Amino acid sequence: MRVLKFGGTSVGSVENLNRVREILTSDQDDKIVVCSAMSGVTDQLVRLVENIRFNDTDAITRNLHKLESKHTDVIDTLIEDQEIRNTLKDGVSIMITEMFEISSQEYSEIINSKIITYGETLLTYIFSGFLNSVGITNVLLDAKEFMHVDVIENPNLDKVGNKLKAILKSKEQSSLYITQGFVCKNEKGQISHLKRGGSDYTATIIGAALYASEVQIWTDIDGLHNNDPRYVDDTHPISHLTYNEAAELAYFGAKILHPQTVSPVVGKDIPVLLKNTFDPEASGTVISNKTYKKGLKAISAKDGITAIKIKSNRMLMAHGYLRRIFEVFDNHNTSIDMITTSEIAISLTIDNINNLDKIIKEIEAYAEITVEQDHSIICIVGESVINDKNSYKLFEILNYIPVRMVSYGGSNNNISLLVDTKDKIPTLRFLNEKLFQTQKKEAVV
Ligand code: ADP
Ligand code: ASP
Ligand code: MG
Repeated sequence: MRVLKFGGTSVGSVENLNRVREILTSDQDDKIVVCSAMSGVTDQLVRLVENIRFNDTDAITRNLHKLESKHTDVIDTLIEDQEIRNTLKDGVSIMITEMFEISSQEYSEIINSKIITYGETLLTYIFSGFLNSVGITNVLLDAKEFMHVDVIENPNLDKVGNKLKAILKSKEQSSLYITQGFVCKNEKGQISHLKRGGSDYTATIIGAALYASEVQIWTDIDGLHNNDPRYVDDTHPISHLTYNEAAELAYFGAKILHPQTVSPVVGKDIPVLLKNTFDPEASGTVISNKTYKKGLKAISAKDGITAIKIKSNRMLMAHGYLRRIFEVFDNHNTSIDMITTSEIAISLTIDNINNLDKIIKEIEAYAEITVEQDHSIICIVGESVINDKNSYKLFEILNYIPVRMVSYGGSNNNISLLVDTKDKIPTLRFLNEKLFQTQKKEAVV
């Protein structure tokens, strides 16, 4: 059994849904297919939630009509048989009515989750119906019935696996199952979600829960590139990555993967393939526990970072002082990404500022604290990257960009720089030139 996930662009138009159909029928293997919402739909649903929050009934109505016509247009173009077309449109209409009903309720976290996960429900319903209409028999599974995730960062894979196996047993047997990414139920049994981009994570949770032979993530690019292609020209796909490398890159901003994607399959030896729906022959990226090549592999950037400097008149390094500081962050459920220390000060970074006010208040009682927002962590990744003979070149960045913090040696596989977000793109471009282009030139000589 393989798990295949198709992202927003892959399912974003009739043409692309037909490409997905071709990929699914290119072999006879058993598959579970995880689909995202059509591209742009989740963003639209996020806006709908804002309309609910402000009780803007006109905007709610406009938004839901737009959503309905977007999906019924797809049905009209995709499906030839009039009767099937009408049945599917009726189904969409029922879902839109449900959404109207939900939208009339007062805003809450559950209402938010219910609404923003509807894009996946709509799309999988249509896609499953379409495949059946062209003789590709498949069974549609409701992810809410098995994707029960109490702790997002650490899902109970046995729980998900047992529920899913029982559902698969109870349904008619098929070699093709379709289900929704992103949506889950939380520890209270309420509808929740795996955070934006979470369909990748749905796929690896299912893959790990069922001990699949492989998880494939199909998207709009030919694998994970050595730098962010949205900001840097001349990037190239990386053929192989270890789980550790992929996890670091995903956590530190490589948008192609949800930050948690790799964690369920690590230790289960299930490879994750990143493939391009628009170029299925391209080899893409294989993520596994094998190291094919050591040294520098890729650079990524994570925005929304807050740098905090804590300065003390007393000896900062005195026994127990750091513990006291870390406890404050821990008590407020705030994890720390980067840390640097000097004799009298410690600088650290966080990305979750929900409890920052409380943290500041506690620390201010015994130290001076300054906070700087809008920073980005630039992460340079590769097994043994610190031993790569080219790595020293990255420090030339200090000639051009005011680097706020450097983390070197925390692990052999990662060097991180903290810069002001306005310097992110120049930093990514500079590092690309220094670390990859000169490497290419050397290889040619
Ligand atoms: P999907 O909708 O299929 O989940 P995403 O938009 O989430 O697709 O992820 C694919 C996009 O990630 C690419 O189009 C690319 O712009 C962006 N991206 C950012 N960093 C990288 C990287 N290092 N390698 C490849 N793609 C990246
Ligand atoms: N549709 C969701 C989002 O846009 C989940 C996903 O695409 O993975 O975040
Ligand atoms: Mg994505």
